[in-house]
Amino acid sequence: MPELPEVEVVARQLREVLVGQVAGAVHVHHPDVFQPQAKLNRRSLRGTSCVGVRRRSKLLILDFSSDLVVTVHLRMTGHLWISPSAEVRPAHTHVCLELQRGRELRFRDPRRFGRVGLLPAENLADDSYIRRLGPEPFDLTVDDLANRLAARTGTIKGTLLDQSVVAGLGNIYVDEILHRVGVHPEQVANRLLSREIEALSSAMVDVLTEAIAVGGSSIRDYLGLSQEPGSFQDRHRVFGRSGLPCRQCGQAIAKRKVAGRGTHFCPFCQRLRRRKPRPRRSVTVRGTL
Ligand SMILES: [Zn+2]
Repeated sequence: MPELPEVEVVARQLREVLVGQVAGAVHVHHPDVFQPQAKLNRRSLRGTSCVGVRRRSKLLILDFSSDLVVTVHLRMTGHLWISPSAEVRPAHTHVCLELQRGRELRFRDPRRFGRVGLLPAENLADDSYIRRLGPEPFDLTVDDLANRLAARTGTIKGTLLDQSVVAGLGNIYVDEILHRVGVHPEQVANRLLSREIEALSSAMVDVLTEAIAVGGSSIRDYLGLSQEPGSFQDRHRVFGRSGLPCRQCGQAIAKRKVAGRGTHFCPFCQRLRRRKPRPRRSVTVRGTL
C-alpha cells in the first residue's frame, strides 16, 4: 500500500509530464471509482490545462486552470501511468484522462479501493479525508509532536498511524522510524522521553526523505509512473525482515501484532521500558498580596 514517499514520488513524476497539458475527455469504465462533485461530470475538465500537481498525505491533487482539482487516492492497489491512447487498456483500468499528442493518463486498480475525484479547488479543504489530517511530517516541529503525544495513552505505533496526529505515515515507515530511534512499538506514546521525541522528529524526516530519493518502497503492488519499482525495501531495517538479523545488533527481528497491524522490531535495540507516567507539572498561580 503506497504511503507518503510513494505518493510523493508519483506526484513529482506527474508534475513533469502533466503540467501544461490540456485535458481532453475523461473516460470512465467503472462509475464507482470516478466521483465528481455535484454539477461536475466527466466533461467538466475538457479544454482546461493542468497547472500543478501536489500531494497532501497520501492524496494526489492535480490542479487545473478552471479552478478544478482532480484528486487521486491510490489506496491499496491503485496505479497511475501515461499511455498512448491507442494502446489496449489493461483489465481494471477504470478512469482515463485524454491528454495531448495521443496520450492519456490512466488509473488502474484491481481491488477498486482507489478513488478519482473531481471538485472545485475551493471545496478541497472540506474534503472528508483532508479535514481529518494532522500536519505533514516535514512541517511538524518537535514541540508540536511532543504536544500531540502528551495526551496519548495508546502505543506509539498506533499513535503514529493515526492520520490526525501526523499525516501520511503507514505500517512500513512507522516500523522503520521506530527502529531508527530505538523505541519499542508498544511503548506508551505519552511516556517517550524528550530526547526520544527529538530523535523521532528527525528520524521521520530522514527516513521519508531517503525513501523518496530512491523511489519509495515496492512491496506487492506499488510501481512509479513509468511502471518502475522503488528500491527502499532493500534498505528496510525491520519491515519484512522478521527472523533476519538486525542490521545494528545481529539479533533476529521480531514480528508481532501492534495496533492491529503486523509490526516489525528488534527486541534488543527497541526494548520496552516500563515507565511511570511523568508527573504533571503543577501550575502555581502567584497572586499579589
Ligand atoms: Zn537490533
